[in-house]
Amino acid sequence: MAAVASPPAPVHVDPFWIEALSSPWAKLLALVWGAIWGSFANVVIYRLPRGMSVVSPGSRCGHCGTPLGVVDNVPLLSYLVLRGRCRHCKQPYGVRYVVVEAMAAALSMSLYLADVVVPLMQGEGIGLATYALDFLFAWALLVVTFVDLDVWIIPDAVVLPTAAVGVVVGAFFPDVLGRPLVPSLVAGVGAYAVFYAIRWFYLRFRGIEGLGLGDAKLLFMIAVYLGPAGVLWTIGAGAMQGVLVSVPLLLSGRELANTALEEVHGDDPELGHEDPDAGVTGRRVPFGPFLALAALEFLYFEPFIRAWAHRFLGVAW
Ligand SMILES: [Zn+2]
Repeated sequence: MAAVASPPAPVHVDPFWIEALSSPWAKLLALVWGAIWGSFANVVIYRLPRGMSVVSPGSRCGHCGTPLGVVDNVPLLSYLVLRGRCRHCKQPYGVRYVVVEAMAAALSMSLYLADVVVPLMQGEGIGLATYALDFLFAWALLVVTFVDLDVWIIPDAVVLPTAAVGVVVGAFFPDVLGRPLVPSLVAGVGAYAVFYAIRWFYLRFRGIEGLGLGDAKLLFMIAVYLGPAGVLWTIGAGAMQGVLVSVPLLLSGRELANTALEEVHGDDPELGHEDPDAGVTGRRVPFGPFLALAALEFLYFEPFIRAWAHRFLGVAW
């Protein structure tokens, strides 16, 4: 969503396109489009950490291995029709698959409304490119969140290409993201450096990985899309929300994420050994999901966050 207020000269858009792009059908299409990408997100979340191709083979039932037909693989609908069970072996699919699809669908439609429909109504032209970039960004955050919860890795294969697309678009079409590229890049490199330094200190003096390098790369990606204020909000709000959510969970002995690290990594010394007493400062809580959540908050509520920061922190950024 554009942050830099453009001069309010109305852009002429053919009434046909205004009608078509703001019709209920267009909004439904945005919802379906999001659900399809949510379905693909499930494939990426499962296969990427396991080194499997995200293209082939097609999806299979995780229990009996039966390949899913086209009818069994319609995002959202198949889950509802089959009541979350395999047609063949009747074993339940994880509810998370449909949650991820629903989240992607909701992200797509809400960003479509914010980036395309609202600007059209306000005479600001067609924001389809902004929608495409914002949805790519939100989709990447969704994938990162669930991969980090599963295997404690923030996948370069998602973060780096997404960041690269943002840099290229920011360089040639700065209006699409509505942010000047240079401050975003400076903020991204700065955030990366700070996280790299924190990680170095942890490894050097405590022998554990307090933060992953993946978190640093994720912050660089976030800075490209949200700019300096966005990355500051993401670090601050992400850390606060991380503490708020994880302290009660840790105190009650519940796990926020998959902590059976050796299942996935073997005994990779990079990740440190399993230490039941490591607490919040050790690798007991993944940071990626909280960074992703805070970044989404800024993407959706930037004007409110800026107004709040101005009023209560005295910061006009
Ligand atoms: Zn089955």
